[in-house]
Amino acid sequence: MNSCPRCENSNTRMEHRGKKGNRVIWTVYCCNDCSFSWRDSEPQETINPQKRDPFFQVDLDRFDKYPVVLPPGLI
Ligand SMILES: [Zn+2]
Repeated sequence: MNSCPRCENSNTRMEHRGKKGNRVIWTVYCCNDCSFSWRDSEPQETINPQKRDPFFQVDLDRFDKYPVVLPPGLI
């Protein structure tokens, strides 16, 4: 997974891999830009930007659209 499902930027990192024996079952990623995190085994309606409800997408160029922004220390 190269891009964030919420903001669609590619500034993401792998956080954790769930394994069964030596086999990777799922991977958790986190977006460095909007702090969204997701597991690659979640439903497409959650992790596929084309299938997500547009209401929940984040446009990082339009922070003025969001009246409340949590400080990073509270997330
Ligand atoms: Zn993001």
